[in-house]
Amino acid sequence: MADDSLRPSTIAVTTGRPPHDVDQPLNTPITMASTYVAGGDREYGRYGNPTWQAFEEVLGELEGGRALSFSSGLAAVSVVLDLVGQGALVLAPDAAYQGSLSQIADLEMRGRLRSKLVDIADTDAVVAACNEDVALVWVESPTNPNLDVADIERICTAAHEAGAYVVVDTTFATPLLQRPLDLGADLVVHSATKYLAGHSDALLGALVTRDDELFTVLKQRRDLLGAVPGTLEAWLAVRGMRTLHLRVERAQANAAELARRLGEHPAVQLVRYPGFGAIVSVELAAGALAADLLPRKTRLWVHATSLGGVESTLERRRRWKSEPTTVADALVRLSVGVEDVEDLWDDLSRALDGLTD
Ligand code: PLP
Repeated sequence: MADDSLRPSTIAVTTGRPPHDVDQPLNTPITMASTYVAGGDREYGRYGNPTWQAFEEVLGELEGGRALSFSSGLAAVSVVLDLVGQGALVLAPDAAYQGSLSQIADLEMRGRLRSKLVDIADTDAVVAACNEDVALVWVESPTNPNLDVADIERICTAAHEAGAYVVVDTTFATPLLQRPLDLGADLVVHSATKYLAGHSDALLGALVTRDDELFTVLKQRRDLLGAVPGTLEAWLAVRGMRTLHLRVERAQANAAELARRLGEHPAVQLVRYPGFGAIVSVELAAGALAADLLPRKTRLWVHATSLGGVESTLERRRRWKSEPTTVADALVRLSVGVEDVEDLWDDLSRALDGLTD
């Protein structure tokens, strides 16, 4: 039940639960159902599920809109891009999550849309590029993995004046650190796989909007394209969301401290940290080889892709052939978890010590 007076941590804990009635479970059950008794709103498993709904209620409430869950973040991205008119122009960051950029490039290659890439942190350049020709501005902030931050409010004003929609991928920030709908965005994208679910055990995506018409269209696209979440995944995400505020607070405190210490380590040439969140990217002075070696030298930090789990992970991003060349060859992305910061630093600094120039 929506209550405007509740604060984010209370929403994370209390929203999306069964009513407080005698013998009701406290937690939303996992409803395994491919079909429902006819005559209601759901009818069929692809059109809705009570467990997805619990996740959507928590996230919607936290973002200040109505949420829809998808089978993955990229499934949510593809549903949004699918709505772009034939041949329309999409303004997108020149460095951002490679999967979203690859989808845009793929659609462009097949003649479905046109794109123009901009430095999303260069607000003047983004604003200047917002003209009547632009149908959609794709914002990601902070960006993966360069951690550039966009001025969402100014971009939304310029885009709306030009008649364009604005979508913000806010995966790195979570609704606790940034609420793009409050800043004017039409649509929010999440890879719920990351902080929202938070335990590296589920793939899930989400879209959130305040525009009822847009919500209806997106729900119709989800129904039609079938990019629906698994029920267990939605349940794991609801369970994860109950501690989102605790995890984000601790991981962010760890990240801020590590970013400070990394800046003083001789093996590190550049620290990228936007001042909030729990991702820190570092560029190593000794180059790409050292960046490849670092994840093999740590013991607590796990060499793995993805991010936003309770456990700390790291990887050299350019080990992926699909990573844009706007990402430095020697960049290592650190997803800082909720372990003791001293243990994280001991492990990381020991691994870095052997990698000085
Ligand atoms: N957006 C961002 C910023 C991401 O980092 C990712 C995945 O890493 C995605 C979207 C895609 O999400 P998923 O892996 O859940 O499909």
